Amino acid sequence: MNIQTNIALSTLTTMKIGGNADRVVNVTSEEELQRAYNNSKELGQPIYILGGGSNLIVHDEGFAGAIIRIKIMGIDILDDNQETATITAGAGETWDVFVQQMVGRNLSGIETMSGIPGTVGAAPVQNIGAYGQELADTFVSLRAYDTQSDDFVILKKEDCGFAYRHSIFRGEQVGRYIITHVTLTLNKKPPVPPFYDALQQHLSQRQVNIAGVTVQKIRDAVIEIRSNKLPDPSQLPNAGSFFKNPIVPLQLGETLKATYPEIPIYPVDGIRVKIPAGWLIQSCDLKGRVFHGVKVHDGNAVVLVNESAQGYADLAAARKEITDCVYRKFKITLEQEPLEL
Ligand SMILES: Cc1cc2nc3c(=O)[nH]c(=O)nc-3n(C[C@H](O)[C@H](O)[C@H](O)COP(=O)(O)OP(=O)(O)OC[C@H]3O[C@@H](n4cnc5c(N)ncnc54)[C@H](O)[C@@H]3O)c2cc1C
Repeated sequence: MNIQTNIALSTLTTMKIGGNADRVVNVTSEEELQRAYNNSKELGQPIYILGGGSNLIVHDEGFAGAIIRIKIMGIDILDDNQETATITAGAGETWDVFVQQMVGRNLSGIETMSGIPGTVGAAPVQNIGAYGQELADTFVSLRAYDTQSDDFVILKKEDCGFAYRHSIFRGEQVGRYIITHVTLTLNKKPPVPPFYDALQQHLSQRQVNIAGVTVQKIRDAVIEIRSNKLPDPSQLPNAGSFFKNPIVPLQLGETLKATYPEIPIYPVDGIRVKIPAGWLIQSCDLKGRVFHGVKVHDGNAVVLVNESAQGYADLAAARKEITDCVYRKFKITLEQEPLEL
């Protein structure tokens, strides 16, 4: 177990704002995690779990307690048959390294989620997704430390309450479970078209034979698309999509379509539709605009880049200006995707 004191959380998060944490404890095993958790509890210190910090906004006050960073590693094959392979990965593994390894084995199911920053352990928290796949599609179960019972538990897919960028871990059970391992079942069959629009277009433009496309080709395509659309947080601090794509009643979608025929609308379930948040922001002419040191990214309006924000208050003020503009024009309230500490 490695313990550091008085650490700037801006250095551990990709948005690069926020104050200091009293203690940062890196744990490499379940036993260390349980010990670190109980030590901090006995000291009466608040506890927060941190992965790669790519989906977290930290307030200027920082955190007067212990940040526990999960560094539990390892990738194990539990079952390998003709059609599928079931794999368990430690929560501390880097998500994209895991994807790369699975693609290297020609396993399909997570290849369009290539390039998503962060750890395997955080992936279930917001049910990560991109280009037509989400974690829940291949998810089997996870192992977690249950802070209520002081024991380790297995949660199956149906226990996790997965929805669009949501799960019990950021909803009704927030703070209760600390994920140590995630198990997925991946497919040995080649990926089946049709693919997500942007991906399909990208492959067609490069004259890739879509019917016989490999997982590796899809991974390469996704990485290329992402590198053109998403700023690298090490160069331009950001937290990826800053807003969720709003899901609105079908009727509102139809009304908006009548006024703005070019609005992209994706069906959700027959009574609701999803509208890209980036399109709404861009349609308010906010692309490239800077508010309080926070820039609406030129390439992708759903991403906010911290150019020179002095702290959380600047980010909050920028967020308000953007969400107010969108509400005034479309009567839609944008919801923030990254969590806050
Ligand atoms: C440039 C960029 C692009 C992105 N693209 C996408 C995308 O395409 N799709 C997408 O879904 N997301 C995307 N994201 C968001 C982010 O990468 C994901 O949400 C990722 O899963 C966060 O992982 P992390 O380890 O950084 O989590 P952190 O930011 O460290 O933590 C996020 C939350 O999960 C909790 N948590 C972390 N680890 C654990 C654990 N082991 N047990 C319990 N709780 C835990 C934390 O307490 C926190 O509440 C992007 C972010 C960036 C910066």
